[in-house]
Formats: sequence, structure tokens, C-alpha cells
Amino acid sequence: MSDVAAPDIDPAAVDVLREVLSHQRRLRDGGCAGEVCPRCVSHHLEAVRGAMASGRRIEFVLPAFPTKSPNPAKVLGPLPDLAEELALRFLNGLCERIAEVYPPGAAILICSDGRVFNDLLGVADEDVTGYVRALDRMITRIGATHLEQFTLDEVHRGAGHEDMRAMLSAGHAPTLEELREEVRGGGAPLAMYRGITRFMLEDLSTPDYTGTRSALQRRCRELAYRVIQRSRAWGHLLDELFPDAVRLSIHPQPCATDKIGMLLADTPDAWLTPWHSVAVRSGGRFTLMKRADAEQAGARLAYVAGRPSFYAMEPAGTGLATPAPARRESFEDAACA
Ligand SMILES: [Zn+2]
Repeated sequence: MSDVAAPDIDPAAVDVLREVLSHQRRLRDGGCAGEVCPRCVSHHLEAVRGAMASGRRIEFVLPAFPTKSPNPAKVLGPLPDLAEELALRFLNGLCERIAEVYPPGAAILICSDGRVFNDLLGVADEDVTGYVRALDRMITRIGATHLEQFTLDEVHRGAGHEDMRAMLSAGHAPTLEELREEVRGGGAPLAMYRGITRFMLEDLSTPDYTGTRSALQRRCRELAYRVIQRSRAWGHLLDELFPDAVRLSIHPQPCATDKIGMLLADTPDAWLTPWHSVAVRSGGRFTLMKRADAEQAGARLAYVAGRPSFYAMEPAGTGLATPAPARRESFEDAACA
């Protein structure tokens, strides 16, 4: 970074971070303040300023879009649908708005982490492959030129899926004892552990589960530690591979830490993601809901190109036969709410 460029770069770098942080997913009692948190802005300023000083596009890394939940009460099936499409459009739109402030622009590398822990969720490797390929096609179809996908398959080309996971863990995972110690300390690690345990419990409470609730709870608590262990390994590897990128997360994060928690959609549940839910259109806006909740609320399934795509809450006769493609404006309004 040169001294000459610094006076111009600073306000623009702050504008870039204000744009990103206006969609921040915060941890309750995480320490953030104000509509756009000034402490988070200054914490990430150096990374953004570094990219801008060298004239590079600003790169963000987002571990996300792993695979659909295996529970049919939450999602429409194993492939991405309108819930993912809306989130991709939102992320691409965010990069477009950054380009208005800083013309070299920004890119988000979606580090799809399904392969990292699908075995723990009981999701087949083929389903992860199908999801990743469909997401790539979706990125191309909607013209999301600022988004790219990166997976564990690209790190260990040609290796078997089990071997990939073993290599990742061997090189980068903390021990379970270390994680338990962190969670016992409370705060953000405990919130993360509870959130993941809740997801596991929902994901594995499928109609074919025949055991007791308490046995499932025990299993999910154990699995949650292993999911966090693998996610942490994936995060460490990404830090090594992309040291200059700004790290985004789909999980709420404490103030001024290494990752920025991001909202991908308007949802009353801060932990709900497109791959744990369905898109529901209501009053011209979209939100995310678990599939069973949408159906219980009377929403009707809508198809796009012959495939189940989203739910619509509109009264009868308002155009369900030919659902309009999602409008970015309405989604962005929703995402900002
Ligand atoms: Zn903050």
C-alpha cells in the first residue's frame, strides 16, 4: 500500500465494508454496535485496503452451500432450488454494488463444504457431487459472474472421498478435547455447538429414525463436535490457500473477529440457511422456512421448469401456474430487513 493512494483508498474501503456489514449476521451479545458496526469495519479494513492498494479485485471466501439437509420435512430434495438461487443472486449483487464503489470489484469464492462432513450427516457422496454440479450450473444460468465454487475435490484431485476427508483432518483439525474445552468456556463456541447440535437433531429426525429421542440427542451432541472439527479443518486449509481473502461465514460471529457472519436471506431464525429450508414467497417477497412449516401455513408448492422450486403463500388465483422468476430487488429488500 502506498502513502499516495491511502487518502483515496480509506473512504472507499470503508464504503465497501459498510456494504458488506449491512448484511451482517450477528451473534446475540457478540459485542457489535450500531447499524454498521464500526469496530468490525476497522477490524477488516486492512485486508480490504490491501486489495485496493494493489488494484486487485477484493476476494471473499465463504464456506457454505454444503448439501441439502437429508430431512424431507425441511427441504424439497437433494438438489439446489430457488432458496439457493436467491442467496446466489444476493451474493452476486453484493459484489456488483462493491464494484460501484471500487471498479476492479469483488468476487466471492463459495467454498462448498459438503464433502468435508457429509458422512456425518448421513448424506451420500453422490448427493454432494450432484449438489455441487447443479450449483455450478445455477451460477452460470443466472449470470453470477462474481461467484465461483471451490471444493475439497479440487484440493485432492483423484483421491477417494474418504481419503480426502482423512487427509483434511490429519493436516488441519483440532482435537475433540480441544473443542470440548472451548465449548466449556461458553460464548461464541458454545453458541456454535448448540446451533450445530440443533441442526443435526432436526436433520436426523427423519421418518425412518426408530430409536429414542434421548439416544438421538446424545448422538447429535457427539456428531456436532465432529462437524465443527471438520469445519475448523476446512477453515484452516482455506486460510492457507487464500491468505489475502476476507473470510465470510454463514454463522453469527462475535464482534471484530477473523470472520464476518453474513445473512443470506430474510429469515426469522438466524441459523436457517437455504440448504436447511425452502424459499417461500409471500406478498412479493421471499423468506426461508422449513418445508413442513410452509406446508402447515398453507403455502402451495410452485414449479419452475417442471421441478419443485419454492412455496407460495399468495391467495388462490394469483399466478401460481406460471411462477415468476425471483426478482433480485424484492429479495434484497427482504435480506436487508
Ligand atoms: Zn462488530
